[in-house]
Amino acid sequence: MGMRWRIGDGKSINIYNENWLPGRGSAKVVSLHVHALEGAQVAALINPDTRTWNQNMLQQHFLSFEANRYKLLCEEENASDASSSDSLKQDIFWRCIWKLCILNKIKLFLWRACSNALPTKENLKRRKILDDAKCSACLSAQENTFHAIWSCELLHHIWNPCFNWIRTKHPLIQDVQELVDLVGQRTGNLELLAVVAWFIWNHRNQLRLNEKGLASDKIFQAAKLHLSKF
Ligand SMILES: [Zn+2]
Repeated sequence: MGMRWRIGDGKSINIYNENWLPGRGSAKVVSLHVHALEGAQVAALINPDTRTWNQNMLQQHFLSFEANRYKLLCEEENASDASSSDSLKQDIFWRCIWKLCILNKIKLFLWRACSNALPTKENLKRRKILDDAKCSACLSAQENTFHAIWSCELLHHIWNPCFNWIRTKHPLIQDVQELVDLVGQRTGNLELLAVVAWFIWNHRNQLRLNEKGLASDKIFQAAKLHLSKF
């Protein structure tokens, strides 16, 4: 089933410590921690034989709204209807992301970006939370994941120092995962791509909340500095 390629076997994701829940609300589990699951991985919530969520476990240990989000995750992933070869490819892809030398929360961010699981305006509109999905920065395109972190024209100056070659040599790329695949193959500089994208996404959220964030022309340097300290 589709779940496998997103969660993998669930052995790499800590239930309580990682930001892994998609959709609205906290990406981290907010239900009261139970002793039995302290330190456990997501694999503990998956029935290994059927590769489906253990519903009894969800109902027993998680708040109902959170248990519903697991179900949502399941439905969305089933809807993706990945073929088995695609699943295998995605498994390998996720393992590559997991090996990157960056904070786990940025790996999770990248995974969610590639899985279209970030709360972009387009996704919020799809869930009827917003009426308008227009990008608040350029006001000329719908804010999907690819636009929010890469293709918005107001982001070009941020990416250009290291990644301009993608726009010139591969202008037809339209998807975050294609971008990640390309950078992973050509330069091995996925860490920088992930961290810059993460800074851009946070910057976008700060603007949305009317918080004062980093000036956009400082983002690339801030991302490089972050990476050098890691
Ligand atoms: Zn835009």
